Amino acid sequence: MIAIRGATTVEKDCEQQIKYAVGEMMTQIRDKNGLDADKIVCTMFTITSDLKSCNPAKAAREAGFYSSALFCSQEPEILGALQKCIRVMVLAESDKKPVHVYLNGATVLRKDISSIINVAIDGPAGSGKSTVAKMIAKKLDILYLDTGAMYRACALKCKMSGVSVENEPEIKKIIDKIDIKVEYRGGAQSTMLDGEDVSELIRSPEISMLASTVSAYPFVREKMVSLQRQIAKAHSCVLDGRDIGTNVLPDCKFKFFVTASPEVRADRRYKELVIKGFKTSLDDVLKDIVARDNQDETRKSAPLKRAKDAVFVDTSKMTPDEVADLILKSIQEKI
Ligand code: C5P
Repeated sequence: MIAIRGATTVEKDCEQQIKYAVGEMMTQIRDKNGLDADKIVCTMFTITSDLKSCNPAKAAREAGFYSSALFCSQEPEILGALQKCIRVMVLAESDKKPVHVYLNGATVLRKDISSIINVAIDGPAGSGKSTVAKMIAKKLDILYLDTGAMYRACALKCKMSGVSVENEPEIKKIIDKIDIKVEYRGGAQSTMLDGEDVSELIRSPEISMLASTVSAYPFVREKMVSLQRQIAKAHSCVLDGRDIGTNVLPDCKFKFFVTASPEVRADRRYKELVIKGFKTSLDDVLKDIVARDNQDETRKSAPLKRAKDAVFVDTSKMTPDEVADLILKSIQEKI
C-alpha cells in the first residue's frame, strides 16, 4: 500500500474551477503512479475554509473516480497557509514509490517543517513597500524587518549629538559606539537606540533626509547590514529597504522591487504625514522624495537599484491588497 499526496489551488470559489482542478489533480495522480481505478483504496480530501461551492469528493466522483471510498473535510484556518487550496491523500495498492502531485503553486509554506525564508522588498520612498511588507509578514506569520528604521535611528543619534551629518570623522566615532537593536512587541517592530524606543521619533521628514545622507557612508552601511544579516539568518522575515536584494541578501530566493511614479509616492507620503500631525505641503514632500531618490540612487555604496532577479512591481495603480496578493502568489509559485 502506498500513500500519494496531492494539492492544487483555484483562483476563485467557483464550482467549475474546483471540479476542473480536482479532475486534473486526480488524473495526474492516477497516471503518474500507473494506477488502475480498482487499485485506489481510498481518497481523502481536505479543502480550505474559503472554498464552499463544491465538495471535492463529489468533483472526484464526477471525474470518474467512484470505485473507491471518498472522504472530504474542511481545514481549519491556519495563519499564513496557502489559500483556496484542495489537498488529497490517495491510498492505493502498489509497490512502487509514490509520485506526489502539486499543481497551480500548491506547495505549502509550512513554518513547522520548512527552513528559514527571507523575502526582500526594495524600492524608493512611498512605493508602498512597508505597507505591503507588513501585510505579507502577517500573512506568512513571519517577522517584518524595517531596515530603513535602522538608518533613521543612526540619523537621529547624529542629530541628538549635534554633529553635522557632513562631518564624516565625527559621524564615524558616533557609529562605532552606537547601539541599535530591533525588538518585537505584539508582532510590531520597535527600533531601540541606546536602549530607548525611538520608533516614533525617527518618522519626521527631517530624519528621512538625514537618514538618506548618513546611510551613504560605507561604515554606517557595514554596521547596519551586518545586523540585518544576523536577524535574517536567525528568523524567517520580510525585509524592506533599498539594497536587500542587491547587497544584504543577494542569494535570497524571493526578491521584489516595488515602485510608483514620484507624484503617486509623494501623495501617499503626504497623506501619511498629515495623519501623523506633521505640517507640510504636497509640493515639499515631492521635492524631498525626488531629492532622496537621487541621493539613494547615486551613492557609491549599495545604491538603490533593482536586483536583476527581482520581480518588478509598479504599484502606481494598485491597491496594497493587490500588490500583496501578487507578491504572495509569486512566493508560493517559487517555493
Ligand atoms: O525606507 P525609509 O524611507 O525608512 O529609509 C530611510 C532612508 O534610509 C532611505 O532614504 C535610504 O537612504 C536609507 N536606507 C538604505 N538602505 C536600506 C533602507 C533604507 O540606505 N536598506
